[in-house]
Amino acid sequence: MAYDPNNIFAKIIREEAPCFKVYEDDMTLAFMDVMPQADGHTLVIPKFPAEDLLDLDPDYVAAQAMTVKKLAPAVKKAFDAPGIMIAQLNGSAAGQTVFHFHTHIIPRRSGLEMKLHAREMADFDMLKEHAERIKAALA
Ligand code: 5GP
Repeated sequence: MAYDPNNIFAKIIREEAPCFKVYEDDMTLAFMDVMPQADGHTLVIPKFPAEDLLDLDPDYVAAQAMTVKKLAPAVKKAFDAPGIMIAQLNGSAAGQTVFHFHTHIIPRRSGLEMKLHAREMADFDMLKEHAERIKAALA
């Protein structure tokens, strides 16, 4: 499948679609997932047109990993999470639903099940507040 430059994450990079941004640098962008599987569910994307890891330029693989490494402790701190899940799906058979490479950062705690993947839209005021919490933890 060819990369679709009009997928929602490409539009977010071009600022044609909104997001609750938590971090940005020259090569990557991080923002709140609108259908979070847990409070604090954050997405990191490269500013590179790749559907999945197999298409991603190695320099962007490195930049993406660095941003995930920077964000994961901030998400953990902001949500006082004992565990952090890092997930990344490649291909619809693996459950991928948006075809611009991305990494999920999801706070986890024992006894609290994750919500279903990409199902329930969150309240925007709540997402805004969660983004502010993560930004404060990054500062
Ligand atoms: P995937 O299934 O491709 O691994 O994950 C795609 C993720 O993007 C899902 O967790 C879904 O909730 C999220 N998502 C889908 N559409 C949007 C959107 O328009 N904005 C944001 N911020 N997240 C989205």
